[in-house]
Amino acid sequence: MKAIERIRGICRAPQLLAGVVLGGRYDFIYDQMPIRICRMSRTQRLNLLRSGCNLICRRLQPWSYPLHMQFELVNYCQLRCPVCPTGTREMKRRPRNMDPALFKQALKEAGPRLITMSLWGWGESLLHPELAVFLSEARRYNAAVLLSTNGQNLNCDEVIKAIIEHPPTFLIVALDGLTNESNSRFRVGAKMEPALQGVEQLMKERNRRGQDRPVLQMRFIVMKHNQRELPEAEDFARSHGFDMLSIRILSLIDSDSGIRSKLELTTDLADFNRAGKRQDISSKRKNYICMQPFWYPSLFADGTLVACEQDFNAQLPLGVLDERTRFADLWFGRQSIHVRRQIRDAYHTISFCRNCPASDRDRTDTSAWAIWLRKGIRQPVSIGG
Ligand code: SF4
Repeated sequence: MKAIERIRGICRAPQLLAGVVLGGRYDFIYDQMPIRICRMSRTQRLNLLRSGCNLICRRLQPWSYPLHMQFELVNYCQLRCPVCPTGTREMKRRPRNMDPALFKQALKEAGPRLITMSLWGWGESLLHPELAVFLSEARRYNAAVLLSTNGQNLNCDEVIKAIIEHPPTFLIVALDGLTNESNSRFRVGAKMEPALQGVEQLMKERNRRGQDRPVLQMRFIVMKHNQRELPEAEDFARSHGFDMLSIRILSLIDSDSGIRSKLELTTDLADFNRAGKRQDISSKRKNYICMQPFWYPSLFADGTLVACEQDFNAQLPLGVLDERTRFADLWFGRQSIHVRRQIRDAYHTISFCRNCPASDRDRTDTSAWAIWLRKGIRQPVSIGG
């Protein structure tokens, strides 16, 4: 997080403390999504308060379990996006699906303490044949469940059924253009139709059942070739049934071809002008305080736990979760202490940290801004209320 965000977080602490301790309620904004966790258990409250201490001193063996977690359901994808290690084939891990038993095992320990879980990693989660099992398991916990997709099989009956019957809090659909041509310039191989058909079906079915989840979010990365479509994006998203539109800039990645593509694709719009040059990153880096290894790990499809999703080839694993290993053994273990020390004190020795997308931006959120398109969704979006 940026130094200024950290100071704001510390200043907000007394107010949050009162809400959490006395009301069992925590309000926060996660990548432009306003979320409220209600009826927090004692375990969840305690973990949140302990996480606050990590914010102050970044202890190598944290006082808390993670607050947020990312779960990589699959690590393969049908598209070839040029600023993604899966698309460029620079991700060397063997393609596989996460075993639902592994997910359940991780959640059994970490789940009661989490406030968000993101069900994606370096792959297209909707390709997992047991998506429904993951969604239904995730919903057993008092945390916001986020699911993101390129939409290519969003119109499949089983996928619609899984999402409607076990709705995530937010479903993020990545569309980086308003036509097949502009969308597939970055999302190489993508078609708009399945994504739009899926959103329409989900919206109708959700309304028919009187549900308010999932909140359907269109996510649009502004680049040189699609910036002219930005003024129409809001009408487009509204007319296709989305509840929310978020606008992103292109993230940096730890790959030479990815960095080259980013430079080619990055927009020259004044508001989104991030050239992505390495010298810019090093100056921004000074104001960046990395909290990732202290509260936001990623569990990869094969059970490898990493401190940060940017470590896409698991260069610095915290360990591997399996039936003989407890999550706590990995999270609080010696290997994790070693990795945190390296990231905290010697980030320049780690390639994915040198190319850290979070330090490349002006603030931690990946989305630059977001707007709500549908009246009637109560904000913040409540969990457990
Ligand atoms: S890439 Fe490194 S510095 Fe950036 S968020 Fe991840 S761990 Fe932190």
